Amino acid sequence: MLSAEIIAVGSELLTPTKTDTNSLWLTEKLNEIGIEVRLKTVVGDDRARLEETIREALRRSDIVISTGGLGPTEDDITREVSAKAVGRELVYHEELVEDLRERFRRWGREMPKTNKRQAYVIEGARILPNLNGSAVGMAVEIGEKFLVVLPGPPRELKPMFEAHVLPTLKKSAGEIVVRRRILRVAGMGESAVDEAIAPIYKSFETVETSILFNRSEIEIHLAAKAKTETEAETILEELAGKIVQQLGVAVFALDGELMEEIVGKLLTENNKTLSIAESCTGGLIGERLTDVSGASRYFIEGAVVYSNQAKTRTLSVAPEIIERFGAVSAECAEAMARGMREKAETDFGISVTGIAGPDGGSDEKPVGTVFIGYADGAKTKSIKITLPGDRYLIRWRASSAALDYLRRQILKSSSEIVK
Ligand code: ATP
Ligand code: MG
Repeated sequence: MLSAEIIAVGSELLTPTKTDTNSLWLTEKLNEIGIEVRLKTVVGDDRARLEETIREALRRSDIVISTGGLGPTEDDITREVSAKAVGRELVYHEELVEDLRERFRRWGREMPKTNKRQAYVIEGARILPNLNGSAVGMAVEIGEKFLVVLPGPPRELKPMFEAHVLPTLKKSAGEIVVRRRILRVAGMGESAVDEAIAPIYKSFETVETSILFNRSEIEIHLAAKAKTETEAETILEELAGKIVQQLGVAVFALDGELMEEIVGKLLTENNKTLSIAESCTGGLIGERLTDVSGASRYFIEGAVVYSNQAKTRTLSVAPEIIERFGAVSAECAEAMARGMREKAETDFGISVTGIAGPDGGSDEKPVGTVFIGYADGAKTKSIKITLPGDRYLIRWRASSAALDYLRRQILKSSSEIVK
């Protein structure tokens, strides 16, 4: 498979004022045709550094694409430097100057002399016309390697790349399609997931697998390359199946779905309703659930019961429970879930109570201590978890853990019914 790398040129891209988005766009386009981007570099307007970078890039990768620095001014150095890096002359193209003059005439201006610089092209390079600007791009074969030099402004680079570079690259990449899939895993760490599934995904040579941690869950990214879409999908299906077999119920999404979508789907399929009593998550679970369209079918009610009085008044949690065990306790979580479920008359009641920090922790119940309560008609129970992170992360992770706890209970009860 062909490998590519991208060089974004421009000192401003090294500062916080301007972000290099060109390389992200280019990477997406290249990935779609099965070309892998292995590296990208941001280089300031520095001749020596840029020359070195282009040389190194051409040594390492089959395809090198640079963006930026093709303007007419003194600090636009990419044209000259790239010619030098590949050891070729710049050739003057009179017809390009004519084009430029004409362009300026249409704008009602005379072409400044400096724009002549834009009529120089690397010897042997194909000229890539620019629909939206004055700088043409260049594509040149250097031995086995391919160098593409594009202007910086996205509205110039994008149409140029799509019309004049992509078709050529597609041809050299061969007929390859790439299909992607994201699996999500809850309740396991990154290394545990990797340890369990590495032997599986390593045996799929045409699939690139990466494992990422995302706030409260693990994402397994799969990218399958094949000759046809169907073939790629079949491979993905097979690998995903094997991963699920290995990780079991911890895998909650097979195609990028969010936890709240999955919970919604399970409730709908089982024709069940839900109410939520939230303390430390302050309504976050309700927000996540109602982000999903159609949530009104199963999500009946949520209460943010932050104070002790609210827990008692709204959910009938006995004051003695709070006095004796504290508001952050298994007993309180269970009373909240039970109370919520009864008031809202739902099939399930879920509750969350915990210490999100940074204040309020104790030796016995440090910051991050969270109790999740669960009630259905037949039973009430709870779990205690200890979550790492700052206030934001603890709240987010608590909301995910609560949804995951519910998910597992629904799966358990529906499989019990099947039995
Ligand atoms: P110009 O003829 O406009 O000078 P150029 O090819 O010399 O074009 P630059 O001067 O490097 O390109 O950049 C022009 C503008 O394009 C920048 O101010 C910036 O807004 C945008 N730009 C350049 N590089 C990038 C990049 N990598 N990602 C996103 N935007 C970029
Ligand atoms: Mg410029």
